[in-house]
Order: sequence, then C-alpha cells, then structure tokens
Amino acid sequence: MTSERILVTSALPYANGPLHVGHAIGAYIPADVYVRYHRFKGNDVLFVCGSDEHGTPITVTAEKEGITPQKVVDKYHKAMEDAFDRLGISFDNFSRTTHTAHHRNSQMFFAKIRDNNFIYKKTVQRPYCTQCNRFLPDRFVKGVCPHCNAEDQRGDQCEVCGKQLEPHEMENAYCILCCGKPQQRETEHWFFRLSEFSDRLMEWIKENKHWPDNARNFSLSWISEGLEDRAITRDLNWGVPVPLDDAKGKVLYVWFDAPIGYISATQEWAKKTGKPDDWKKYWMNECKIVHFIGKDNIPFHTIIWPAMLMAHSGYNLPWQISSNEYLTLEGKKMSTSRGWVLWLHDILSDFDPDLLRYYLLSINPAKHDSDFSLKEFQHKINNELVAAFGNFINRNLSFIEKQESSVIPKIEEFDELDEQMLERIREAPKKVGKCIEEFRFLEALKELMGLAHFGNEYFQKKEPWKNKNSTTLYLCANLTRTLAIVSAPFLPYSAEKIWKILDLEGSVFDEQWNSAGELGIKEGHMIKRVELLFNKIEDDMIDEFKTRHINKVENVIEEKDYAEFLDFEKLGLKVGEIKDVRNHPNADKLYLLKIGLGEEGDRQVIAGIRAAYSRDDLIGRQVIVVSNLKPIELRGEVSYGMILAAEGEEGVILLKPDKAVPAGSKVG
Ligand SMILES: [Zn+2]
Ligand SMILES: [Zn+2]
Repeated sequence: MTSERILVTSALPYANGPLHVGHAIGAYIPADVYVRYHRFKGNDVLFVCGSDEHGTPITVTAEKEGITPQKVVDKYHKAMEDAFDRLGISFDNFSRTTHTAHHRNSQMFFAKIRDNNFIYKKTVQRPYCTQCNRFLPDRFVKGVCPHCNAEDQRGDQCEVCGKQLEPHEMENAYCILCCGKPQQRETEHWFFRLSEFSDRLMEWIKENKHWPDNARNFSLSWISEGLEDRAITRDLNWGVPVPLDDAKGKVLYVWFDAPIGYISATQEWAKKTGKPDDWKKYWMNECKIVHFIGKDNIPFHTIIWPAMLMAHSGYNLPWQISSNEYLTLEGKKMSTSRGWVLWLHDILSDFDPDLLRYYLLSINPAKHDSDFSLKEFQHKINNELVAAFGNFINRNLSFIEKQESSVIPKIEEFDELDEQMLERIREAPKKVGKCIEEFRFLEALKELMGLAHFGNEYFQKKEPWKNKNSTTLYLCANLTRTLAIVSAPFLPYSAEKIWKILDLEGSVFDEQWNSAGELGIKEGHMIKRVELLFNKIEDDMIDEFKTRHINKVENVIEEKDYAEFLDFEKLGLKVGEIKDVRNHPNADKLYLLKIGLGEEGDRQVIAGIRAAYSRDDLIGRQVIVVSNLKPIELRGEVSYGMILAAEGEEGVILLKPDKAVPAGSKVG
C-alpha cells in the first residue's frame, strides 16, 4: 500500500473574539476526524491552522477597549488555542499571522506576483469620512448591496447574496463610526489581476469532478458572471506592510495575507521540527491539499486563493474543499453582536469534549443548515452515545469482569450469528474509512453507531447470562477493540479510555486503521477494571447550563444595551421630527420611529416608550436624537440612534426644544 501525502488546513479563525459551537463544527471537528483517520492509515498527513490577526475589526476592538491591536490578538489567539486544545483538535501547528515570518512570507508572495505582472497600481476613489478624518476600510462602511439591494450590509461582503463588495459600490453608504455620509477621495492602491484567471480557473474547476457540487456550481457561476480585478492593499496601519517605497501607510488586505498563512504555518511547523525545508514536500511536491472551511469562505478557496497560487506559480493548488453550512442556536441564527451565541469554552467547561464532538458531528450541517438545541444534545447523548455505544461496551466488559474474572475466555465454535459478528468486525474499518475519505462524516458516524447497535443485539440474542458462552464474550471484547479504533477519529478521549480498560499495549493511536478488522484480543488476555465511559446528562445539568449561559444571553438584548460613546463632546445631538410610528414586530415595549433630520434625511430609531406615548402623541413631535451611535439591532430591527428622555414619576418623558427649530439642527 502506498502512502499518500496530505496537507489539511482549517479556516484561520479571526482573532477578534472567542470561538462558538458553529465555528467548531464548521472547519475544525470534521478536519480533525479526517486528519486522525489519515494518521491511522499511515499517510503523511500534516494539519495546520493559525489565527488570522489582521484587518479592521481588530483595530475597532482595540480602539473600543483602549488597548493595542496586538493585545487584542494576543488575548484571542490564546483563548482559541485553549479551546481547540480542550476540544481535542490535533493541529500539528497552530500559528499566527502576526508572526514576522508570516509578514515576510506574504511580502515575498506579493513581490513574486508583482514580478509576474499580475499586480498593478491604480488611483482610485475610496470612501473618506471627513468627521473621522480617515479613509474608511470596507467594514467601516455599511449600505445597500448593489447586487441584491439588501439593506445595511457591510462593505466587504453581502450576507444576503454572498457577493464580495467594495464600499464605494454601495448605495446609501454611511460611516459606522459616526454615521456620517462618506465622501469619495483619491488614493493609490494595488490591484490583483483576478480577471485574467477566469479561463484557467473555469477549466481547473471543471476538472475537479471530485469536489462537492455546492462548491463547484457556486464557483462556476461566480466566474461566468465575470471576475473583476481586486484591490489587495488598503489605507490602514495594522497588517502586513506593502513592501514598496511608494506604499507608505498601506498594508495588504487581510484576505490576501490570510490564506498565505497556510503556507507560513507549514513553514513554521517545518522549522520547529528541525527540518526547515520539509514544508516544500506539501506545497511543491506531490501532495493533496484539503481546505476545511465555512460556507462563506467558498469563493476565497475555489477562486481567489487558487488564482493567487496560479499567479505565484510553483505551489500546489487545493485538491479538495470541504465546507459546511451554518449552525443555528435553538432555532435562531447565531449572532455575536446580539449575544445570541453558545461559546465553545462555556459548553466545554460543563461537558466532556467527546460529547460535544459527537453531538456536533451527528447534526453536521454539511448539506443544509442545522440547529444546535441543548435538549436535543441531551437526548442524543443519552439515547445514542450512552444507551447504545457506552452500554454495549460497559455491559460486555462488566460481564467478563464478573463472570470470567476479567480474563478473555477461549473461542469454541462459531455459529451463524458469530459469523455475522466476524463479518462486522472485518468490514468495520473499510466501511467507516470509506465515508471519512469521501468527507461523509455523518454517515461515518452512523456506521460507527450501527456497529454498537449490532453489538447490543448480538449480546441480547446470545443471552450469555443464561447459557455460558465463551465465544460470545470473546467476540464482544474484540468488537469493543474494533470500536475503540474506528471511533478514535470522532471520540479521541473515549477511544483511549476504552483502550486502557482493555489493557492493550500503548495508545489506540499507535494502531493501524486496518487492524480494527482483526481479532486483536487473544484468549487469556486480562482486562482492567471496567469504568463507565459516559455519564447520562441529567435534566438539571441542561437547565442549569441554560440559565447560566443561554437565558442570560437572551435577557441581555435590552434597549439599554446601546453602544458606548467616549465623552460628551462626541455626542452628536440633533433635533429630529417624528414622521411615523410603528410597533416593533418582536417587542411589546418598543416603537419603530421614523425620524426626520432635515437635509440628512430620515432614520429609524427604536424607543421603549410604548407604555408612555401613543402613536398620535408622537407624530409630528420634535425630539432630541443622539445621532452618532453605532447602529444596533434590537430583536431583528436596526436602530440608528436614540432619543433623549427623562424619567418622570409616571414613566418616560421625552425631551423637546422649547420652540420649534428646523429638523436636523445641532444641539450642544
Ligand atoms: Zn447582496
Ligand atoms: Zn466617520
């Protein structure tokens, strides 16, 4: 059997916040299953990842918290590394894009593409905020998507149609820092000739018939709509400096340097192992490169990143893309900004990592979105992992412990049912392995659970408690060993635990995958004391977890939760006139006010004054509006500011000018 060389990467997580359960199942747990399996197969597989530490959101967080961007990424890099570690994600290297070596590598990559004439300089118009005195990078601008007209989209990508955006293309654009309307100003930027790669990409993707249909079709239709050259630099001081004398104050766009991080992480791994040239085996010699990503990352990995690699030349193109759809939480879309999210560190502090790995893999959102529900989590763990998998192992081994003084009895004769059992054991590594090789993780898990179910049925039919049957116990012990090996990519901690109870040599991870199909436990072998593999999840554990982490989150979404501002000078108070009043569709206490601000136009502001004012009281009335707050979403509606009110004895009392003034007048 020839060994294969495989490089597996997981999407670089963005170091601007902790990881949630959606991240975990998106690009990390399936990748880890895949990698652990190929290690068992004896393939030369390398698993790299790293935190993506550049880009504007990190600078926004740094400004807000009054710390340096480096402090922000240090904190989250560490937090993510810890969470991956606890979840059992077995990276060979987890790097960071702020490492000097990565900066140097990205600059060399840029220089090489430029030498190959795929990069050019162009004077362009970019949004500039005169109030904030700065160019506004993509994420600092929000507006209407020019492709699908979805409102309030970020300037880098439309969440509705998935298209990549440039801030200057957006309609009704506004600065997210001050809500002002950006001007267009001239600045010089460097562009990547993506348009020149349409034909090559098209041909290459068509050849890749082993890709999943969703990635292939999505990418082909993207290309057929026409690829445009893309700016790869921006006016910012946080990132990889553009390595040119006439590019002072500009850095490489984060999307450009991040995927190069896959190469840098491989180089760093090679250096750490003392063979600094070994990275070339994966990037320049024959090797299958597999990228595990979330679905929003598909075009980057099927179009832009391959085009960058083609432009550079000399490096392998991706061989496979494995992407996942989104995970919702208790039926609702997860949103870190609204606080509706289940953090990985929270759930891992209460539940064993294998339980979470099992549940997430069992609802793996590979083809369509799926939902994380704590009740279902409890149900699946108790009814599948505990009642089928754990039960089989515990039951047969306890029987051996009690009836046979922990010694595996000798084989007598095989009857028909025993032959079925033998066949199951023989086929197990092939069946589970084939599913993993084909990225069908959910089916792989079903094969695994099918084995456990078969074990239970077998034990039940054989009734070893009635008629002493040493062959039955012998085969059950061997199926247990098989289960330990084939479950190890999915449930690494439990598999090792089973291995220890069976008192087999070394670690389960030292085994060859195909040996799972053998009868590896001989008669006369003695097992160790049997322990429960998993405990049932009780109702109160779920309730208590919900109270601490989920219900709390739901209550946070209250109207007082407005964005903070720095000091009074910066409060943009204006006089506004209420033009329309609607009830908030999802909140009893809230109104959606349409407030006119003169020349600036109308805005929607959400106010919790429904108990105190009727619609008629409000229409035509003047109010004081805080106009430069970051827009905030309250139960599905966006508020662009807030109105000032005093707390009177009978409730809220709105402030208004003593005499009518033109709407839009400044206050202060
Ligand atoms: Zn759109
Ligand atoms: Zn601004």
